[in-house]
Amino acid sequence: MPKIKHNDHPLVVAKKSKIHGYGCYARTDIKKGKRVMEYVGPLITKKEAAKALDAQNEYIFTLNDKFDIDGSVDYNIARYINHSCDPNCESDIKNDRVWLYTIRDVKEGEELTYNYGYDLEDFEYRTCKCGTTNCIGYMVAEDDFDKVRAMTDLADMAEKKKKRKPKKKKSK
Ligand SMILES: [Zn+2]
Repeated sequence: MPKIKHNDHPLVVAKKSKIHGYGCYARTDIKKGKRVMEYVGPLITKKEAAKALDAQNEYIFTLNDKFDIDGSVDYNIARYINHSCDPNCESDIKNDRVWLYTIRDVKEGEELTYNYGYDLEDFEYRTCKCGTTNCIGYMVAEDDFDKVRAMTDLADMAEKKKKRKPKKKKSK
């Protein structure tokens, strides 16, 4: 885990999370519909993004048809926001900028989460530890929850040995 160098966001503080690694926690109560922060980083081509994923970079965000964002930079505090099956935030792309905003009222001290929008490919290697009562056990886009639930051989798949590769995050 890289050192946090810019932990001075007015609304959130990054610290150890029960879900995974570091997480972003609300410093104060945040109302529903509030733009909390931007997911920032250099723009990279799809080719560069593919290379970054091969190199285990877990912070690539799909921006548009041409570019992705490499969010693995120190100044991108949003990279610490964890995935959840029942999140309190959502990502949204406006004018080629990615924003995280609250989809319900958030209490001071609550961990901020959003759904990373991962597709189903190799989902069985991305287990979810969000801990919500609605957790389906894997990190996938909400649209695919039903498909995942419908699969009966999850236990067998989890046994498969295959190299885990990071995925691009996507806005809804
Ligand atoms: Zn979950």
